[in-house]
Amino acid sequence: MTATLQQTERELAPQLKTIKPRRVSILGSTGSVGVSTLELIDFACSTGSAQLEIVALTANSNVELLARQAIKYRAAFVAIADEGQFAELSELLFGTGIKCGAGTTALIEAASYPADWVMAAIVGAAGLQPTLTAARSGADIAFANKECLVCAGGVFLAAMREGGGRLLPVDSEHNAIFQVYDFERPERITRLLLTASGGPFRTWTQAQMANVTVEQAVDHPNWSMGAKISVDSATMMNKGLEVIEAARLFPTPANKIEVVVHPQSVIHSMVEYVDGSVLAQMGTPDMRTPIASALAWPDRVESPSTKLDFGSLGELSFEIPDETKFPALRIARQALDIDGLAPTVLNAANELAVAAFLNRHLKFLDISHVTEQVLASFDFGSTAAFGAELLLEDVLETDTEARHKAAEEIRKHMI
Ligand code: NAD
Ligand code: MG
Repeated sequence: MTATLQQTERELAPQLKTIKPRRVSILGSTGSVGVSTLELIDFACSTGSAQLEIVALTANSNVELLARQAIKYRAAFVAIADEGQFAELSELLFGTGIKCGAGTTALIEAASYPADWVMAAIVGAAGLQPTLTAARSGADIAFANKECLVCAGGVFLAAMREGGGRLLPVDSEHNAIFQVYDFERPERITRLLLTASGGPFRTWTQAQMANVTVEQAVDHPNWSMGAKISVDSATMMNKGLEVIEAARLFPTPANKIEVVVHPQSVIHSMVEYVDGSVLAQMGTPDMRTPIASALAWPDRVESPSTKLDFGSLGELSFEIPDETKFPALRIARQALDIDGLAPTVLNAANELAVAAFLNRHLKFLDISHVTEQVLASFDFGSTAAFGAELLLEDVLETDTEARHKAAEEIRKHMI
């Protein structure tokens, strides 16, 4: 018996030791998800459980951090979106042999460098072209940039099919569902239950929310994230975008995707089956867990995230979301019901309204108001359904038009 066990251990040892060596690129490496990805990679390499080579890194304007990352990980290529920072980037990388570029073409070049696994972690529709390029390249895509799937769902999924890589959800809810979803028997699934923390204003009244400051809105109770997604969590548009993201990622009808408020953020989402079983994935609210899941899938790799301590967890509670207090959820659902280019409009208007709020030009409650007005201003009568696959040009044209309309609407409410 002992001999057999030892033999099995010997046979398993090589697989247990390291996950597959991979060439890794990170689109949006200086952001919250990007930095968490590099922390995980550091940890996995230091414990000997991975041997990873960093190929390409990108950022918007944080040139110092991008250069430091590039040098530390000996990246082959780095791209900065802000062309005004190119001279400084070149100077910081002088003599290192690391190639660099600036602007959209450089971001696309970074995404087309041969890699096995690409983390798509640029925020907003700005990530669309690089993410599409990475998808077409055949790399596995660790997918965080939900706005890309909301604004160009069919186009992005077609690019994934063309490339043939795996689409590995990183958003904690979608990663949770992905881990417990029976893709061979989707018809046995009765509901997807997306959990939501409820954000910092869960217990506030609308009157209290009227004068919310930027600092209050970005101060999320459980998760540490970039500014845009933090504001989306506060309005609950984040959960609205996630309902659309789930409808694109999983073959479950949109009317079977529900949202449950769960303030402790311990259960990251759930799948209900016909027999009444509900499978949940749990963990501490630390993005390094879903990133680790996406990095090793279907294998597992150790992550530095704090493990759950059930003894000190206390109560896990659940509530129905209040769509009167948080209209963004209802507006996103409306866009998904219309489908076609409506989610494109929703995403563009919300991005602009959130940016205006962060620049202190718009009041918090007007973010949802502006988004709803812009969505209502479009006639989607002739829009092709999602299944008919929209063209990238249609998406880009509608995205631009929605941004113009949103800018007009924001001017009317400007503070
Ligand atoms: P962030 O703002 O911290 O980082 C965004 C990254 O994108 C940065 O590297 C930034 O330089 C880059 N970027 C921003 N604008 C750009 C532009 N115009 N062109 C090129 N690059 C640009 O955001 P984040 O919190 O890391 O979120 C990234 C994405 O992941 C978002 O789509 C978000 O919804 C999603 N996400 C984040 C979390 C989280 O915990 N932070 C969780 C789930 C999903
Ligand atoms: Mg999420």
